[in-house]
Amino acid sequence: MDILTEKSSMRRAADRWRAEGRRIALVPTMGYFHEGHLSLMDMARKAADRVVVSLFVNPAQFGPSEDLARYPRDLERDAALAEARGVDCLFAPPAEEMYPAGYQTWVEVTDLAAGLCGASRPGHFRGVCTVVAKLFNIVRPDVAVFGAKDFQQLQVVRRMAADLDLPVEILAHPVVREPDGLAMSSRNTYLSPEERRSALSLFSSLELAARLVREGEREAGRIEAAVAAHIRSAPGTRIDYVFVGDPETLRPVKRLAGPTLLALAVWVGKTRLIDNTILEPCPTGPMRAD
Ligand code: AMP
Repeated sequence: MDILTEKSSMRRAADRWRAEGRRIALVPTMGYFHEGHLSLMDMARKAADRVVVSLFVNPAQFGPSEDLARYPRDLERDAALAEARGVDCLFAPPAEEMYPAGYQTWVEVTDLAAGLCGASRPGHFRGVCTVVAKLFNIVRPDVAVFGAKDFQQLQVVRRMAADLDLPVEILAHPVVREPDGLAMSSRNTYLSPEERRSALSLFSSLELAARLVREGEREAGRIEAAVAAHIRSAPGTRIDYVFVGDPETLRPVKRLAGPTLLALAVWVGKTRLIDNTILEPCPTGPMRAD
């Protein structure tokens, strides 16, 4: 596996593969790999001949009071894990390579990025879209794989690719969870053992909501209230949002009439965690992850 840090060498490697007729997949990440990231790499491996994983803790998607400085990093460990998963190239540029002096161009998706995490983290999706657009231009992948764990990000990136006519297919991987249900996240490393227990309330509240829907509940407000009460009962939690709405438009709904997104953002101590599921009011439908 190659580890590249310069845009020019990354572009050359991708150009060479394209000239050989290889199909290229890109998995954008911020590193500190867990099984969620590695499952995206497996999906990329199946979808293409060459897999590029980008590892870039993107300063542009962190707010001034967020965890950019303490975000976990371990390039050596990540490189070993990616190589073991059959990744061909790890692209790990320094910040100056992506945002050199004089940088002043940004990519912004409007409506889809306005609510949920976009409301709590102003500028976050502008940073995400900008870096993802740049990565698409450097690597020019045929496919790119994103996790449904960051559901809004997935939909915002899909919108950006469609709106900017970027010739890349976006694939979604379902949320990968710990055995007890907690969604895997690099930020889980911040949690103390007590916080780790409280963090499980996110997943158990999704299960609670799915059960309510199975039992016939269709009122979004009642589902939101039950989910919020469940999360509040776990020590040290503070809800950022509990959202029930349309998975495509990310607009809230009052009643569930089809597959509906339930998305959460919750502070557990000083750590902000997100999770989501698709609620299926139709009794025959299986749980959908994307
Ligand atoms: P990150 O390094 O956190 O920016 O994540 C990189 C990619 O991995 C994004 O597309 C995330 O949605 C995806 N991802 C992170 N955690 C998970 C998870 N638990 N399940 C599925 N995808 C994930």
